[in-house]
Amino acid sequence: MATPGRRWGKVGPGYVRCVDSIVILGAGTGGTLVANRLRRSLLEHDAQIVVVDQDDRHVYQPGLLFVPFGLAQLEEITRPRGAQLHGGIRYVQSPIERVELEHQRVLLTDGTTLAYDVLIIATGAELVPEETEGLTGPGWGKKVFTFYTPDGAVALHDALERFDAGRLVVNVVDMPIKCPVAPLEFCFLADWYLRERKIRGRVELTYVTPLDGAFTTPVASRALGGLLAEKDIAIVTEFNTGEVDGLTGRLIAYDGRVVPFDLGVVIPLHSGAGYVGRSPGLGDELNFIPTDQRTLQSKVAPNVFAIGDAASITTSKAGSVTHFEGEVMVENVRRFLVGKGLDDSYDGHANCFIETGFHKALLIDFNYDTEPLPGHFPTQLGLPLLKQSRLNHLGKLMFQWFYWHTLLPGRDIPGVGSEMPHSGKRPPTES
Ligand SMILES: Cc1cc2nc3c(=O)[nH]c(=O)nc-3n(C[C@H](O)[C@H](O)[C@H](O)COP(=O)(O)OP(=O)(O)OC[C@H]3O[C@@H](n4cnc5c(N)ncnc54)[C@H](O)[C@@H]3O)c2cc1C
Repeated sequence: MATPGRRWGKVGPGYVRCVDSIVILGAGTGGTLVANRLRRSLLEHDAQIVVVDQDDRHVYQPGLLFVPFGLAQLEEITRPRGAQLHGGIRYVQSPIERVELEHQRVLLTDGTTLAYDVLIIATGAELVPEETEGLTGPGWGKKVFTFYTPDGAVALHDALERFDAGRLVVNVVDMPIKCPVAPLEFCFLADWYLRERKIRGRVELTYVTPLDGAFTTPVASRALGGLLAEKDIAIVTEFNTGEVDGLTGRLIAYDGRVVPFDLGVVIPLHSGAGYVGRSPGLGDELNFIPTDQRTLQSKVAPNVFAIGDAASITTSKAGSVTHFEGEVMVENVRRFLVGKGLDDSYDGHANCFIETGFHKALLIDFNYDTEPLPGHFPTQLGLPLLKQSRLNHLGKLMFQWFYWHTLLPGRDIPGVGSEMPHSGKRPPTES
């Protein structure tokens, strides 16, 4: 008997066979690249692929960092979602209402029901600024901004243009957030931007973080902390923001500490997508999907997989992670469909260019077991790691091209596989 999502299709005279139904929730980085990779590797009469998203604006999110400084425009980093999907993939535009694991189906708010054999969750993380007292109250969009949304990044651009003296404070409310280095990059670019405008001397720039240093691991934390000091950017650590008073311009920590500001740039709390909370048994308390960190199969049902920011695993929430995960996940969906054991080779590989201003950037590369180390990537002859260079800055700029033309279409980046390369890295004792 057919499982609920299965379609029965004719493939020859008198010959009927089963067509697997793969439903992918989210057409951002992960949903798009996995759909395209799966479409290339599975015949259309073996599997139908349906992708769901709530809108048709695919934003290259790393580009949001540049919008406040006038270094990118929103329209340059936005493309239609459906156009990023290969032929033979059905795109459905509607918000998701909920998933019913028990019935192997997804309910959309437009009333459509999608049955599935395999479900891939790629609905990312969403910002929940309303979870922090005062953050969305008076002052939000006037004195307090975020660059983590398209509208927020544009509004912050206008506010920065008006800003010519005072205290500019960048605050991460709590982890996890997407791209944990983006707030540091914002600080470095702000320093550069203010120097270009010749008003740096009139601005106190402060980075306020819940971590005990600039980054989560010691070697990178020392390097990035050193850069903050070099650029005269103050850092306030172990600050757990409990309240943001946008009227008087104050961040207030749970332990009573206060950081005053004239312009606040806040990275709000993140959670998984809201529909996860309406789907019995699907998510954890933050609406992220409990997931095996090596196979990317969810822990909630064997035919449910999770990729990218939606998955609750211990590597960074980043586009690079999503891309590396995609290679292993697609292999595992194929194996699952034919009843083979899963590949457990995803090692948590993440890498990220960190813009430091003045046409330079650092690069970090790490996985579950190896923290970001100095050296070169991907081999000893490659890009410098944990060291500022123009080459890394060019890498950061070129990445946007790779995103639209290589990552999203589901192609491999030459010389860069999902497994973290070790050969160019120097052990911590030598650093
Ligand atoms: C400012 C900023 C800078 C960044 N810089 C970098 C960087 O330099 N390098 C890097 O590697 N990563 C960076 N990232 C992170 C990177 O963009 C994300 O990690 C990546 O896009 C995650 O992909 P995803 O598919 O998991 O989620 P997304 O690409 O966010 O896609 C999720 C999709 O799900 C859809 N969705 C959600 N809920 C619903 C619903 N209820 N119904 C229907 N659809 C829904 C959304 O519309 C969205 O299209 C940055 C992010 C930000 C915000």
